[in-house]
Order: sequence, then structure tokens, then C-alpha cells
Amino acid sequence: MSFTPPILERASLGPVSDRIAHQLSLLDTFALCEAARARRDRAWGNTLTYSPKVFLPVTNLCRNRCDYCSFRRSPGDPGEWTMSPEQIRSWLHRARQQGCVEALFCLGDTPEIGFREYRALLRSWGHETTVEYLRWAAEEALRAGLLPHTNAGILGRDDMIALRPVNVSLGLMLENVSERLCKKGMPHHRAPDKRPAKRVQMTREAGELQIPFTSGLLIGIGETVEERVDTILVIRELHREYAHIGEVIVQNFRAHPATPMGLAAEPTPDALSATVALARLLLDDDVSVQAPPNLNPASIEMLIDAGINDFGGISPVSPDYINPQHPWPYLDRLRQVCDAKGFRLEPRLPVYPSHLDAPGFIDASLRPRVDQLQTELSAR
Ligand code: SF4
Repeated sequence: MSFTPPILERASLGPVSDRIAHQLSLLDTFALCEAARARRDRAWGNTLTYSPKVFLPVTNLCRNRCDYCSFRRSPGDPGEWTMSPEQIRSWLHRARQQGCVEALFCLGDTPEIGFREYRALLRSWGHETTVEYLRWAAEEALRAGLLPHTNAGILGRDDMIALRPVNVSLGLMLENVSERLCKKGMPHHRAPDKRPAKRVQMTREAGELQIPFTSGLLIGIGETVEERVDTILVIRELHREYAHIGEVIVQNFRAHPATPMGLAAEPTPDALSATVALARLLLDDDVSVQAPPNLNPASIEMLIDAGINDFGGISPVSPDYINPQHPWPYLDRLRQVCDAKGFRLEPRLPVYPSHLDAPGFIDASLRPRVDQLQTELSAR
């Protein structure tokens, strides 16, 4: 007969204190996952979700240099790109024809601060700033029949005020709250926008502005288990203050050749499972816990067993440009795995029902499109 420690039994029923959170992280992964599954099943039932999306990598210019990143470029580098208005428009229309619901705009951090050439390009298209361009792109997405979600790295309060009326949600991975990871020799040393205080501040301001928000952890970049727990607890605290965190992504570092961390060890499946389970056990029940299946194609069952309730955005149109060698799994395969585990796989909007139902979180002008797409998804 197996023995469940009392703190785990408590955690399987609801969130626990910060002190107990750290004690939980010392328990074995199998037991953590068992408790996390119980919490997930109680809060989210037997449905696992994904968002049918098109991924638009607006630009890969970025002023940061994270040691693990294969996405970023500087002007003139091979493979540098910035999507033109025509490209954005054509991708959006193709995505809509193929049944996408979400337009995910993603880009490097604050490119106009770093690069004169990029500023000139934006001006040639009639935009002074990236945020102006992103606002235009989101309006196009809405016109094409999609719901925009933007993850543009660090945004100021005024930037978020400008994007709020044309996005159903915004996102920024908190990644980790440890300042240590920004020290010399650590992966964020050359990434000024990865300072935890900046990222916490933006997440807080999004809460003050009542913007449904995606946060997340990146694991395997040199952080300790304690620092992972600290990061989850900071997200929890911000959510308790503002109720704006819709989902938390647990993303595992993958080593890309030709990056400074190209030969670094990737986190083990056990570490990924334990972190997913801790996220489920420590976060409040209304926060969705997600892990990307394309980074773990052989581990989808494991992610389900660790307590996820969501697979994030899955695209029939565009590859995942941040991790291009890890293509999205076909939906049929994902559905088969979910069926075998006793779960229904269902498409969802890029904003969660808790925010659709709560007053003040969605701009009134977005409602008709939200309602139309919700009806469309319900009929699939
Ligand atoms: S991970 Fe993001 S912020 Fe870091 S270098 Fe790559 S694009 Fe820039």
C-alpha cells in the first residue's frame, strides 16, 4: 500500500502555503504527478484543450542575446526577417481559411531600440514604433476573422493600453525570477529585457489594466528547483492580486546547435514532469497549466500524467519559428493519445472562459468576434 504524505494530500485538494510549496518540491515526481492529476481532474474535468492558431513571427530582430536562443538575429545576419504588411495579410487569410482562430504575434524584444535599419523599415510602412505596427496587424487579424494574442517581449503600460482593445490576451514568459541567471556566465547575461524585475513589473501592469495574460517558466537553463518554485509563487501572487493570469506555460529548454548553449544538457523528462506537477499543485485552479507538445513529441502521455490541461497553440499553417526543428504534432495523433488516456481533445479560444465571464477583462468591441468564434468552435 502506498503512503501519501499529508502535505501532498492537502495540495491535491487546493493550493498550499509558500512554505509547504518548497517542501513539496522535495517529494518524488511520481507522487507529485499523482496529486497534480487529481487537482487537474477536479478543476478541468476530462477535457484537454488547444488553441488552433497561426504563428506570425513579425520580426526576429532582437536586442537581447539569450544564450539558448536560435531565433534572434541582427540586421544583416543570414536568416534575418521582418514580415511585411502584405505577408501578414496573406498569412492571416490563409490561416482563417484553414480554420485557425488565434493569430499569435511573436517577435524579438524591443527591436526598434537596437536597430536603425528596422526603424527605417517600419517608417516605410507608415509606422513609427513596433507597437503601432502590431496594432495595425491585430486590426488586420480581427478583420480576417481571427482573435489576436501578442507576445512582444517587454511592453510599457502605454504600449499595453494601445494593444488591449485589439487583443484578447497578451503574454510574456516570466521564465525565472532568479537574478542569478542574469550574472556573467549565465544565459541571460546579455539580455537586458530578461531582468526579472522588468518582467514582474509588466505582468503586474497587465493585471492593473485587466488584460488576460499568459505567463510561464523556462526550465533547464541553470536554475535550481527552488528558483522554479519561487517563480511559480510569484506568478500565483500576481494572479491573486489581479486575477488576470489565464495560463502558465511550462517550457523546457531545448539545445539548438550554433548557440552558446548548443551542447548544454536538456532538462530530464523527470524534471519536466515534476515542474508541471508543481505548477498544477501550487497555482490556483482557475489558471490553466500548459506544456508545448512540439518540444516533447515523445512525452505527450507524460505531460498528461503530470497534470497539464492544455497543449497551447497548435497550427495547421505555420511552423513554430522559435523551435523550428520541433514541428507541431498532427492533431490526429494528439487526439489519439488523449482518447487513449480517457480525455477529449477540444479547440478553445485564446482567452479563457474565466476572463470572458468576468467584467472588465475583454474590450467590448471584441465581443462580437469572440462570440462568433466560440459558436464556431462549439460546432466542431
Ligand atoms: S529568447 Fe527572446 S529575448 Fe532572448 S534573444 Fe531570443 S528572441 Fe531575444
